Amino acid sequence: MTIALHPARIWSADDGVRAGLSVLVDGNHIAKVSPRTELTADEHINLAGATLLPGLMDIHSHLFLHPYNETPWDDQVLKEAEAYRTVRAVNHARDTLGAGFTTLRDLGTEGAGYADVALRRAIAEGLTPGPRLFVAGPAIVATGSYGPARRNFRPDCCFPQGAEEASGIDQIVRAVRHQAAHGADWIKLYADYRAGPNGETVPTFSIDEMRAAADMAHSLGRPVASHATSDEGMRRSVLAGVDTIEHGYGGSAATFALMHLKKIAYLPTLMAVKSISLYRGDYKPGGDASPRMAEAANAFRLAREAQVTIGCGSDVGVFAHGTNLDELIAMRKLGMSNAEALAAATAINAAILRRPNDLGRIREGFLADLIAVDGDPLADLEALRQPRFVMADGRIFGR
Ligand SMILES: [Zn+2]
Repeated sequence: MTIALHPARIWSADDGVRAGLSVLVDGNHIAKVSPRTELTADEHINLAGATLLPGLMDIHSHLFLHPYNETPWDDQVLKEAEAYRTVRAVNHARDTLGAGFTTLRDLGTEGAGYADVALRRAIAEGLTPGPRLFVAGPAIVATGSYGPARRNFRPDCCFPQGAEEASGIDQIVRAVRHQAAHGADWIKLYADYRAGPNGETVPTFSIDEMRAAADMAHSLGRPVASHATSDEGMRRSVLAGVDTIEHGYGGSAATFALMHLKKIAYLPTLMAVKSISLYRGDYKPGGDASPRMAEAANAFRLAREAQVTIGCGSDVGVFAHGTNLDELIAMRKLGMSNAEALAAATAINAAILRRPNDLGRIREGFLADLIAVDGDPLADLEALRQPRFVMADGRIFGR
């Protein structure tokens, strides 16, 4: 089955916007990019007036969470059954794909076990529409450091945690092996968390623990994503040899320079900070940035100055699924051009995922993850808000 797509313009992520080209999709691959007259196909789809782009990617998501202003995180973990959360995740995946995001890296089910591995399979098999998923399973935290925080409950309570706990080199290596065996594409570690005496952020794993985990993950062919909001958490992550650092709000110029040197990518998750500031009443739309937003903005500036590779990862789930575009807009507001934000959400994210040769560009041989939008998104990112055509893995969304 071949489908020819005929947009007004193409942005391929390889060069600027080009007119007069059509794209031939064969099965789940892009077979040809050429002038319209040269294409024969089983089906022709006219996308007059539209710009065709690679499908967008958000590589820090949580499909198994929903916005905290609907239900606090603790309540989602403690009161919502895994089956219930999976039903929600199916809806979230469909909304995400409809919004033009054809790939997600889902960084932890937050207490929903390996339901992400099952969802990845269901989407790949075409049982339910959703983005291509790279998943991290339960993720790994230092014992006693994560939530729901035990200090908020009577000490003899025993209840689930939002990630798998590990303490010491033996346990963390075992957790990495266990999660890889159950289908994790990435290993997610929490280098720091709000485990201080008054809930302050403190480093949680030692460098030796994280290095052992990263070495084992790499040996098993899995890259490592590290949650780190403090400079010390980031520094330990870098020295341990992780592949991406998530959040990084407290990063110093020296740490970002080290990330650049070691080719560790940065996912700024600006929307997470903005959303939490909104929920707490620290920020009103259009008003002054909250102190946390100002900190995140400063980290973003330092990372750009240090020439760190910056991908697009929003922490969606903290805020509504299907509004991932807001992360690109937040990056643009802090100084990226529209083209840079688009590259982050396509070709750069693909490289971070170790898939530079078949994802994130419109090129012959690449996978057919494509969206078409009215207008020119390079002139205005809002043009991406409601794609009129979405294809993921060669399947047309909504058909
Ligand atoms: Zn997250």
